[in-house]
Amino acid sequence: MKADTTALTALLREALGDGAVHTDGGLLAETARDQLRPRRSFRLPDGVPARPIAVVQPRTTEDVVATVQAARLFHVPVVAYGGGTGLMGGALSLRPGIVLDTRTMDRVVNVAVEDRMVTAQAGIVLAALNAVLESCGLMTGHDPWTLPIATAGGALGTNGLGYLGGRYGGIADQVLGLEAVLGDGTVYRTRAAPRAAAGPTIARLFAGAEGTLGIVTEVTLRTFPLPERRALLALDFPSFLHGHAVAAELLASGLNPAMLDFGAPPGESGRMYLGFDGPEEVVQAAVERALRVCAGHGGQRLGEEVAQSFWLGRHVPADRLRSWRQAEQEEPLPGAPGSSVFDYLHVALPASRVPPYIERAEAMFAERGVQVREWGLWHGPELLSVAISRTTDTPAEVAQAAAAADDALTLAQDLGGSMEYVHGAGIRTAHLMEREHGEGLRLLRAIKRVLDPDGILNPLKLGL
Ligand SMILES: Cc1cc2nc3c(=O)[nH]c(=O)nc-3n(C[C@H](O)[C@H](O)[C@H](O)COP(=O)(O)OP(=O)(O)OC[C@H]3O[C@@H](n4cnc5c(N)ncnc54)[C@H](O)[C@@H]3O)c2cc1C
Repeated sequence: MKADTTALTALLREALGDGAVHTDGGLLAETARDQLRPRRSFRLPDGVPARPIAVVQPRTTEDVVATVQAARLFHVPVVAYGGGTGLMGGALSLRPGIVLDTRTMDRVVNVAVEDRMVTAQAGIVLAALNAVLESCGLMTGHDPWTLPIATAGGALGTNGLGYLGGRYGGIADQVLGLEAVLGDGTVYRTRAAPRAAAGPTIARLFAGAEGTLGIVTEVTLRTFPLPERRALLALDFPSFLHGHAVAAELLASGLNPAMLDFGAPPGESGRMYLGFDGPEEVVQAAVERALRVCAGHGGQRLGEEVAQSFWLGRHVPADRLRSWRQAEQEEPLPGAPGSSVFDYLHVALPASRVPPYIERAEAMFAERGVQVREWGLWHGPELLSVAISRTTDTPAEVAQAAAAADDALTLAQDLGGSMEYVHGAGIRTAHLMEREHGEGLRLLRAIKRVLDPDGILNPLKLGL
């Protein structure tokens, strides 16, 4: 059936009630896009974001089923929207369709304290989930920059990683089970056991799927006890390579920092923040050993207050982003004054390849007039980020910046790594998915055809 928008919205209203279906107002503009904003080294296709036909705010899994069935009938896309903080355009509306604003599915279904598991609807904001868990002495262990805005479903959809990932892993490590509505309207539920080895772990298929294989309606996550002690350290190192050597040695010595966050501009000194969680005596011993490792690489320890202020301030920018959104204001764009492209890339590489990668990438960036602002590491010597900028006056210069970013992403693939370790692919790197996965992309497309036979779930994302 061709998209008769009046008939489609009438059907949605009949199924979900008037209050759950929106066809005008600021909500349409807000939920048609995420944080893949202008000035990244990527230009959105013309006409994107497309104005949704309707934004649906479901309360139950049945509401999601009804929405998917309506989309199927009228053959329009359904895009799941969580907090809209994704950086890769995963929640961006490319064609007019239905945006499923999952934030209204925010109920905690069950906290099993003794079992250290929590089940919640997928639209729950991570900070709200943590607040409930904290009152039971637990936490999720997933603590991204965007914790006050991002949802459990969005975190799973992008296969996210947070500040504490060094000890607790990423969200995909924490998901034990889920419920999802597939593209044909089927409700699919996995077993939520503490561990399962009876065949592949199907829940993991939805980690990083960005709403292309199913709409996740409920998640069961492993939780962790609030640490008896969290020690935080801040240290300066003479250069990026000194910090890289420290990250490698910490891991090699069997230390497992819950947090390692390091950044240094090229040729300059850099700052590292370390966090250790656990029982008092264990943390004490880990800190002493870590300080010895750091001293061996020229680390200068800074006052405790420096580390504390980093830790306490880590979500402040996200709180600000939320306030701008509530006030319906555009957030100021990041980047150095005068630079019109600002971007950040997050690649994963075998630790030994990081130094040669940096050398080659810096030469590639320089060739295209792109400036490296900072190299960064997360959780160890393998997860590498780079912030880049370029002053651009012409479309050709913008294209140069985009080509430079692609060069850096493909270089990571060529050196045995992955082009992205935390934010997903969305539309931003969809064109490189074949290069990333090879034959695997064919397999993903085959799986998509089974789970979403009409191709209505977030079409064109991830190169699917
Ligand atoms: C400045 C900045 C810093 C960031 N730092 C981090 C960080 O530290 N760690 C990190 O992991 N990420 C980070 N991100 C990226 C982003 O916050 C995460 O990807 C976040 O988990 C997305 O959650 P969301 O709810 O906002 O998802 P959205 O942006 O709304 O959606 C993300 C994707 O998931 C899909 N999706 C959403 N809900 C569902 C659902 N219920 N079922 C199926 N698919 C769904 C969407 O369709 C989309 O493809 C950062 C972003 C910004 C802007």
